[in-house]
Amino acid sequence: MKSRTRKATRHVNQNEGLIFEKSSPGKAAWKLPPLDVPDVDTAKLLGKVERKDLGNMPEVSEIEIIRHFTRLSTWNYAIDLGMYPLGSCTMKYNPRVNEVVVRLDGLANGHPYQPEKISQGALRIIKTLSDCLMEITGMDAITLQPAAGAHGELTGLLMVRAYHLAKGNPRKKVLIPDSAHGTNPATAATVGYSVENLKSNERGMVDVAALAAQMNEDVAVLMLTNPNTLGVFEQEIHKIAEIMHAKGGLLYMDGANMNALVGKVRPGDFGVDVMHLNLHKTFSTPHGGGGPGSGPVAVKQMLEPFLPKPVVITKPDGTLAFEYVRPMSVGRVRSFYGNFGMFVRALAYILANGPDGLRQTTEDAVLNANYIRKGLDGVYDLPYSTPTMHEVVFSDKLQAKKGVKTMDLAKRLIDYGFHPYTTAFPLIVPGAMMIEPTESESTEEMDLFIEAMKAIAKEVEEDPQMVLDAPHTTRVSRLDETAAARKPVLRWKPNPD
Ligand SMILES: *Cc1c(COP(=O)(O)O)cnc(C)c1O
Repeated sequence: MKSRTRKATRHVNQNEGLIFEKSSPGKAAWKLPPLDVPDVDTAKLLGKVERKDLGNMPEVSEIEIIRHFTRLSTWNYAIDLGMYPLGSCTMKYNPRVNEVVVRLDGLANGHPYQPEKISQGALRIIKTLSDCLMEITGMDAITLQPAAGAHGELTGLLMVRAYHLAKGNPRKKVLIPDSAHGTNPATAATVGYSVENLKSNERGMVDVAALAAQMNEDVAVLMLTNPNTLGVFEQEIHKIAEIMHAKGGLLYMDGANMNALVGKVRPGDFGVDVMHLNLHKTFSTPHGGGGPGSGPVAVKQMLEPFLPKPVVITKPDGTLAFEYVRPMSVGRVRSFYGNFGMFVRALAYILANGPDGLRQTTEDAVLNANYIRKGLDGVYDLPYSTPTMHEVVFSDKLQAKKGVKTMDLAKRLIDYGFHPYTTAFPLIVPGAMMIEPTESESTEEMDLFIEAMKAIAKEVEEDPQMVLDAPHTTRVSRLDETAAARKPVLRWKPNPD
């Protein structure tokens, strides 16, 4: 079998102390040159705040520090090590050219308080990226301020609310399909709307008849992910937009899945009024590990007055400036202008690819998801037979008969040298296994993945307990993921309690 089982680390040890506590008295990784300035009485200078000893600071040699951090880095998994098929997250390769460009002196060392006169380059980047994103989405205006997808949703819904309010009534409800990303209902509730669930039909799409029945003048907006979280394109999107608009409602598109659409179709052309993009998904800026992200929000003309301020404008003399006087604006949603480093990376990606390259990217992303669908169809249950776009959702139905669930299969995948796929999401598929290869993967890498998934299915038949105990090759096995998220230990403490 060609599987790529990762070697167990040499330092597997259940005793955390031996791994993290390397300190012994007197060791140091530094040596200072002889004093070449007059010696001063530090006690007199510093008084009470003078520190007499090292406290509990670790004392280690240089090689111990190097080995400690290098070892920790090998316990991690990254897109630079192999396929990262985490569905919905679009974990694509981060091209190195982006990193070269963003580190250019004038960009990396620019300051947000620099006068506009000497910030024309940075302003030009914001403007050019904005223009590119409007062209790609078919929208009329945009803000780059939001720092993530969910933040974009919040910004978009604040604008929707301001729009309805300006017309005399903010309305009460937001419609959200049962296949939506969890951030959608959370956002609607945060903005003060009540959420009304919309059922999907047997093809995994919005039930248009149900929408028509549920839509009324209390509904502010429909939040729709397209392609939705089943990786299915909403084929009746025009009809959906019509139903919303007929009763004065708006259509919000969660554009986190734009990796399936860029260069092929434009949301602005199929009736979308407001949408967010995830630069850290579709446009290759790094994510995972907490960001930084970027979630621009693009809108149609009637929402333009409500954009967060400032916006970039072109002055009569052709130079660029920030415009702060915008009486209808929802206000600032972030300090300064957004995550500027992400703008530079995304623009580098867009310009390096060009229109043809971006279209090819989309086609390859969809082709890859279908390659995996074909490779694993029959081995794993496919709950919806509707055509797959950029990601494919299987379920653990066949393996669950042996007591092995989606999480167990995902954990076993780690032993084969792959990051797990997304488990248990979308919620409308019990035991979901959501796989998104992105365009970054070669057929060779996907073949390894398919083989690994087939081998695991065989293991479930022959030795389910072994899969239930996975992973076997990592330093620690199953962690309390809830505690890790709710009570994270993020820094070293000398005497942890
Ligand atoms: C990732 C994602 C989001 C949230 O984006 P963040 O940047 O993580 O806040 C929202 N909707 C969908 C469909 C997504 O895939």
